[in-house]
Amino acid sequence: MHVNASPALAQPALSARGVARRYGPKTAVEGADLDLRPGRITCLLGPSGCGKSTLLRLIAGLEPADEGEILAGGQTLSGPGVHVPPEQRGVGLVFQDYALFPHLSVLANVAFGLKHRPRKERNARALALLEKVRLAARADAWPHMLSGGEQQRVALARALAREPAAVLLDEPFSGLDSHLKAEVRQTLLSALRAAGAAVLIVTHDAEEALLMADDLALMSEGRILQVGEPRHCYLNPVSMAAARLLGEANALPARIIGGVAETAFGDVPAPGLPDGAGMVMVRPEGLRLWLEGAPAEIVSTAFGGGFHEVTVVAAGQTARLRLHGGVPAVGEQVFVTIDADRARVFAA
Ligand code: ADP
Repeated sequence: MHVNASPALAQPALSARGVARRYGPKTAVEGADLDLRPGRITCLLGPSGCGKSTLLRLIAGLEPADEGEILAGGQTLSGPGVHVPPEQRGVGLVFQDYALFPHLSVLANVAFGLKHRPRKERNARALALLEKVRLAARADAWPHMLSGGEQQRVALARALAREPAAVLLDEPFSGLDSHLKAEVRQTLLSALRAAGAAVLIVTHDAEEALLMADDLALMSEGRILQVGEPRHCYLNPVSMAAARLLGEANALPARIIGGVAETAFGDVPAPGLPDGAGMVMVRPEGLRLWLEGAPAEIVSTAFGGGFHEVTVVAAGQTARLRLHGGVPAVGEQVFVTIDADRARVFAA
């Protein structure tokens, strides 16, 4: 299933249509549709091995597609009998390890992408690009003298040198210390937004994807399950599998009767769904302890930093929720309610 929940937007700079890639008997990507739009950041999120990097390589033209098409405006970049080479696609690439030349200065690394221009113009343009990523002051440094985040911005400046219609980044934060990530992310995002290109970021980190994306594409086992704005995907996943890609989700068995899904933790509206078995997806923060509700017992609690993770059982069903205030003791009897805005019902 493929659902695009984004409102009407600019024409895509790059599109994948029904793209597939196989390695022997292994299908790495199957029937992938994806649009990258100018000025928007698309995050391709999925677990390791689900085919994200392969799809990125197909879009970049580093590998041929076995099926489907890659389009840029009216032009076919990949398709039956067509394979435009990477350097002619108007695509800039930032690899996981940044792939800077260690023997070239920062400026020379960026200027490398401008070989087609006269030397003098090359350096001026490279310096302007370094300014864009706020590294002009380090133009004469060697790559090894820079932090991981700075090296990444050099790689981005180099990728932007040919004014690409799209910039593709593969796991751009995987090599960085976690305490630096928030700051590096902000700086990188500002530079990407200033460039105005269509951006594709491949990541396996749900929080990162939610924080960065204008458009999110959820991928699992070679297929794109859902495309939409982060908030929409988070609150309205198309399936339990899509829900779980974006963070913890309780799957509560339900009985749907007359447009209401009944669970052990309370009822959720299910307008238009047929009577019968169903499943309610509810995020941990969508379950609350309250003065009334479904009687339940606390079976475990765990300290999670800014919250406590609490496991409750009601009528034999288990669910996890998050508490930000006081924590009840294990064995305590409580009442649980479901916030219907944070729940979604699936028919069986
Ligand atoms: P992800 O980026 O989501 O971690 P990949 O696109 O790297 O996933 O890989 C998807 C699947 O395709 C994996 O099972 C991987 O082992 C397989 N694969 C990727 N590249 C190759 C290749 N060059 N040869 C054979 N199998 C590959």
